[in-house]
Amino acid sequence: MSSSAASVASLSRRLEREKAARKQAETLLTEKSRALYDALTTSRSDKEKLELALWASQESYFEWHAEEDTFIIRSFGLRHKQLREVKQNAIALMRRVHADDLPQVQLGWSMAVNGESDDIELICRIRGVGGYQWTRARGKVLERDKTGTATYIVGMAKDKTREHHAEQSFQLMASAFSSSREPMLVLSTSLQITECNEAFRRLARLSDTETVEKLQLDCFLNNAQEPLQRINQTRQERFETELTTRDGQDIAVDVSLAIFETRHMSSSYLIATLRDISERKKNEQQLRVLANHDDLTGLKNRLGLRSALEELVEGQQHFVLSFIDLDGFKQINDIAGHELGDECLQIVARLLINTFPASAIVTRWGGDEFIIASTETDKTAFHQLNRQVIDTLESQTFKSGKTELTVSASIGIATYPADGDSIETIIQNADVAMYRAKTGGKGRVYEYHDGLTEHVKEQVSMLSDLRRTIRNRGLEFYLQGKYNVAGGLIGAELLCRWFSPLHGIVSPGVFIPLAEQHGLDMDIGLVALESACEYISMLETERISLPLSVNISANQLLSESFAEDAAAICAEHFVSPELVEIEITESIFIQDEAAAIKGLAALKAHGFIIALDDFGSGFSSLSYLRKFDFDVIKLDRSLVKEIDSSERARSLLNGIFKMLESLRLEVIIEGVDNSAYLPLLENIGINSYQGFLFEKPLPYDQFILKHTQGWRMIK
Ligand SMILES: [Mg+2]
Repeated sequence: MSSSAASVASLSRRLEREKAARKQAETLLTEKSRALYDALTTSRSDKEKLELALWASQESYFEWHAEEDTFIIRSFGLRHKQLREVKQNAIALMRRVHADDLPQVQLGWSMAVNGESDDIELICRIRGVGGYQWTRARGKVLERDKTGTATYIVGMAKDKTREHHAEQSFQLMASAFSSSREPMLVLSTSLQITECNEAFRRLARLSDTETVEKLQLDCFLNNAQEPLQRINQTRQERFETELTTRDGQDIAVDVSLAIFETRHMSSSYLIATLRDISERKKNEQQLRVLANHDDLTGLKNRLGLRSALEELVEGQQHFVLSFIDLDGFKQINDIAGHELGDECLQIVARLLINTFPASAIVTRWGGDEFIIASTETDKTAFHQLNRQVIDTLESQTFKSGKTELTVSASIGIATYPADGDSIETIIQNADVAMYRAKTGGKGRVYEYHDGLTEHVKEQVSMLSDLRRTIRNRGLEFYLQGKYNVAGGLIGAELLCRWFSPLHGIVSPGVFIPLAEQHGLDMDIGLVALESACEYISMLETERISLPLSVNISANQLLSESFAEDAAAICAEHFVSPELVEIEITESIFIQDEAAAIKGLAALKAHGFIIALDDFGSGFSSLSYLRKFDFDVIKLDRSLVKEIDSSERARSLLNGIFKMLESLRLEVIIEGVDNSAYLPLLENIGINSYQGFLFEKPLPYDQFILKHTQGWRMIK
């Protein structure tokens, strides 16, 4: 091989070596740069991640270099992911801290810088663009110099303004809850108590150590199942119930209950606000009592009776009811005054309470009317109890000065539902029965029966008809003559007659008692007296002087002004009272003896002739003859009956007449309707007669006509 060939080979080998080396170097270089590139990319991505994290958490990153005393603060805008970097020295930054927070910031910072702590945590207000912001800064000392003074600090800061406000308002709410004067509770949706305030503790009378947490609400409100069960659907409830305190008392409360969601709707809870309404309830109760009760007697009033009866009717309970109307109460009020009247009503109220079972509803219906309703007693027993009330009332007297007054009662009974299917009907029917008791003579108990209302309606209609007739001077006065033994006319009695277009001819036996029961007898008496005076003066124009007699009722005679009124009527008609005979019955003495004697004496003083009518009927206590000096005694028609056939009747009449004769009393006998009586009467010595045998009662015209033809006056 030549030398040139050898050098080519050596060059080629060198070239190959160099090529390989270059290739190796190239490869090495490529790997290095890839590593470098990778490292570069990774670090960029870490930084980006960091920045992304900062942006997402809205935190700022800060670092502090002691050498330059510079803070570098990096932060991101909320919307734009754009880095903001601020450099500021410590003094400038401190200037932005709120003066109130500055001391603690400076303290915390200097503790970190001077080596007492590596960690920094500060919460303070820092002035920003829109004013102060609550900022939380957390940092760490990373480097210190040889003296231990910090040279490099890094950390994060975050705007906590919203959280701070939220916390503040939460604290406010919490303090409002705990210090509220209204008792309040926070509850879970299963109504378990989680919180309660002081006011609730006081209301429920909890001891200082007692806890209510974990208790169910119905431990306190055990009568409110319904609204408590509803709350999860309705979400809001307000109701009144009772709270049972720890010491077992029940307090009326008003409860407002509402469901609230937490801010993120993640859970619900309830807030209950309670209000103690026991005072209000007490007042309401008192008002109810006042509204339902009578002031004077303390008994239930109409309203109270109605609601009590409604309860019975709703519960389909049977009851008996009595309507009580006092007899003679008006006189107590009129004579003795309202004070004694009120006292009388209170006594009656107590009597009723004591007589009837405790469960009975005792009511003052109004005025002197009472109503009793009882579910416990049957009709017979109830009737007896009512009878007992009358007996007790009649056994006591009310004293006003020297006057002793008594009251009685007329009572009507009706039963529910037998006598009516409504409260109104039962009360009405008992009232009708009471009316019947009253018109039947007072002081009695009457039970309602079918047809009674019609009967009473008839009576009421008759009464109003009678009232109208009296007002219109529609009553007529017939005359019946009185005769002597020779058949001569010696006087006449006025007898009242009523011809009603509605009720036909009504007998005095019917309408006179009706008038007396309703105080119309006084009017009839005055009209009778006026008619008598008119007749006397008309007779006088015929030149006949005839005494006429008028029947006067006890009520009339007992009225104080009667004697004066009677005298005034006579004077008006220019009639001498001596021509007017006042006929009264002994019933006047039964009512009030002293007043009767006084009234009679007054009449006599005016010159009236006083006759005792119907003598020999009724009680005929002879003591009246001792007490008052009557001018005439009219023997009752019953005494003349059968004297022609009965020796006994004749002897009795004879005895009575002899007694009256010995008292020098003028005697006339009524009911002479049989000519067989005349010789017998004459034989006894009775010389004055009245009766159908001589004359039936005649209208004035006929009477005049009869007596002016062949008139002869004998006296
Ligand atoms: Mg008479």
